[in-house]
Amino acid sequence: MEGTGRKAAADPGKDAGSLKRIHGYTEMEVTRKLILAIFEQRLPPGLRITEAQLSEAFDVSRTVVRQSIAKLSEIGVFKKTPNQGCTIASPNRDEARKMLHVREMVEPAMVRGIAETRTPEHLAALHEHIAMEGEARLRQDRSTLVRLSGEFHLKLAEMTGNPYLIRLMTELQVLTCLAILVHAEAETGCPRDEHSAIVAAIERGDGEAASHEMAHHLKHITADLKLDRAEPEPNLENAMLWLRGAAGA
Ligand SMILES: [Zn+2]
Repeated sequence: MEGTGRKAAADPGKDAGSLKRIHGYTEMEVTRKLILAIFEQRLPPGLRITEAQLSEAFDVSRTVVRQSIAKLSEIGVFKKTPNQGCTIASPNRDEARKMLHVREMVEPAMVRGIAETRTPEHLAALHEHIAMEGEARLRQDRSTLVRLSGEFHLKLAEMTGNPYLIRLMTELQVLTCLAILVHAEAETGCPRDEHSAIVAAIERGDGEAASHEMAHHLKHITADLKLDRAEPEPNLENAMLWLRGAAGA
């Protein structure tokens, strides 16, 4: 693919603390950074942040921050709050179940297609990614592992070159990550070795196997979320009723 040879621009995050701060992040870069921060659990579900905080953190204008917030609100990752703020979404079980249902429809078909159109560059990128996941696992670096797990699915979406699919997968992947943080008992990233199995099938050009491995992988993620549990969602109204009852007792 053209453009892949382009050296990645210096990681702006690394320069944030140096004397000369880098200005001029684009809205897209800010949005991407925020998504990565969610993958790394640096922005937990339910956290409230303001335009001013983000504008200071990224050293960009409020306009850029506002555009980024608008984009992330549009896909449901942020929820706007009064006073120019927003909170990170905190998907409930029902929402998590529905988003995983869509992923089960989309991602097996997505990897089936990738197995047919894979290029040596794709395979190299996927192997490099699996190696990074392995290193993070070895170092027991959980936040990096969780981020890489999320990015794996986005990388696959990007390999399709289909902007609608990339957009859909970004939304679903980030929201699934937030749902995992809210509902899973242990947060360890995607189950070990399942990404490797998907990549191996893609490498063999075996679309059927890739699709099967992805379906299995998503079932596993769903099971870890324990979405079939009957326990009620937290409900403020019920809590207030309970408190009133308890207070009167
Ligand atoms: Zn995964």
